[in-house]
Amino acid sequence: MSIEKIKSLPPVSEMMREAGLEPKKQFGQNFLFDLNLTGRIARSVPDIENSVVVEVGPGPAGLTRALLLAGAKQVIAIEKDKTTEPILSRIVESSEGRLTVIYEDALKVDFSKLGIRDYAVCSNLPYNVGTELFINWLLCVAKGEPINSMTLMFQREVAQRIVAKPGNAQYGRLSILTSLISDAKILFEVPNTAFVPRPKVQSAVVQVLPNTEKIKKIRDIEKVGNLTAKLFGQRRKMVRGIIPDIDWNQFGLSGKERAEDIDPETFARMAEILL
Ligand code: SAM
Repeated sequence: MSIEKIKSLPPVSEMMREAGLEPKKQFGQNFLFDLNLTGRIARSVPDIENSVVVEVGPGPAGLTRALLLAGAKQVIAIEKDKTTEPILSRIVESSEGRLTVIYEDALKVDFSKLGIRDYAVCSNLPYNVGTELFINWLLCVAKGEPINSMTLMFQREVAQRIVAKPGNAQYGRLSILTSLISDAKILFEVPNTAFVPRPKVQSAVVQVLPNTEKIKKIRDIEKVGNLTAKLFGQRRKMVRGIIPDIDWNQFGLSGKERAEDIDPETFARMAEILL
């Protein structure tokens, strides 16, 4: 049984030592060794036992092992750093067909071509590309990519931006796109002491559940993205100073509002009419 084989593997830190693997800054490598924490993240994936899970950045496989131990039907892991291969190939062997590793830059992967339907995403994302990857996934979900859930570790400030509500200083493009497509919440915070090496910033695990009712209402999510970029580009300015000569009443606004005062649904209506 693969669970027993995975349980009997040496600890992650020992496998790294054996493979001579050191964390690399350029790949945003801050690893998790704590089994309680990786187990908690993996068990936060809804219905994990019936799920195919896509993980970006398995690294030395701390979270990957937890996903397999939590019973994921299949894990497809995408890793840019090929030097992790000696470790990951041992996990692949022990997984008895449940783990596949693709050595590729996740930003270049076309997720719709992975040939899987209905999958979950779970990842301790590299900080340098985490936001970009997340936005790509949101845009894919809006266009019908069958992602059931995303359980993602971000630096805490990014997590707060994802779940922020109008009127909040953190509210912006990330909050609006997330809110128009899904239901999102911060599950728990993770102190920087949990990572090796220890980053300067704190982190948090966010759960994002795509909401089909919301997705049906969205005509063109790219337009919403463009409008948020335009209005939040000058976030201290009144919107009528950024887009002049329009009737703001049609959106229930006076034009004196700033971007951060406008709720996601109004942004969507404005994008449809103005762009
Ligand atoms: N999952 C491991 C853990 O939790 O200990 C490692 C997480 S570490 C924060 C981020 C991982 O993403 C590293 O293994 C890094 O090499 C990988 N990575 C960085 N940029 C990537 C990219 N563009 N595509 C795929 N993997 C990437």
